[in-house]
Amino acid sequence: MTSSEPFRAALAAVSLPADWQVEVVIRPRRRRLGLEVKPGGAVLVLVPPTTDPRLITWFVTCKRQWLTEKVKIATQLAPAHPIKEFIDGEEFRLYGVSYRLRLVDHAPAGVEQLPAFAPEGILYVRRQPPAQIRRAIVSLYRKIGLAWLQQHGRQYELDGQISNLTYVVRDLGRRHWGLYYTPPKHIVAAHWAAFSLPVRLVEYLLAHEMAHATSPAGRSHGPAWQRQMNQWMPDWRRRQVELVEAGRHAWLGGWNRPS
Ligand SMILES: [Zn+2]
Repeated sequence: MTSSEPFRAALAAVSLPADWQVEVVIRPRRRRLGLEVKPGGAVLVLVPPTTDPRLITWFVTCKRQWLTEKVKIATQLAPAHPIKEFIDGEEFRLYGVSYRLRLVDHAPAGVEQLPAFAPEGILYVRRQPPAQIRRAIVSLYRKIGLAWLQQHGRQYELDGQISNLTYVVRDLGRRHWGLYYTPPKHIVAAHWAAFSLPVRLVEYLLAHEMAHATSPAGRSHGPAWQRQMNQWMPDWRRRQVELVEAGRHAWLGGWNRPS
């Protein structure tokens, strides 16, 4: 095992800003030095084991300007997903509209079943342990989301001559708001958390995946796919940027588990 100590010393000679998180990572299979900036701003210096440490000093010095810009962007774009407690008054969003959680023992008048987003801006959920409240809320997003996809996907199915498509709403982790699975699956999937975002962003997500479902020629986001998007949603590029921004603050299911 090669020690990373000489590499760290070489890096220290560059005197990068003190608030940067810089890590030396030895990569046995690499042939050249590399840099990677992680979401949030951490910098990885990827080093082949046989590297002359002086080369690191030189390399990072040369890339300093580039790194400064990348770290700035990565720090600004760091996700800030909220963590929920499932207590009365806590905010949950549906299509960008704010609702306050109210835990109840019975469905109030006018509410057919629990849980429910009620028009008066209240999310009614049965009083129960937090893990179950969380599950009930996620299921509600999934149910509402699936109905929305099926309803709004119809126009694209007709226009794009898409048949036998299946829609699903589930947890897609932290990297995807939507996915299209090619045939034989032929599925458009959306993240349940997407339905908390403004409806114009959910519309973008749907159009994006439906454009994939038309099986355009070429690369997955290539000219044919873009042509379809331009036709269906002329301002899709703006919505794409808005989704990145709004998505950073979306609730993805994180909660304060009792220890
Ligand atoms: Zn795509």
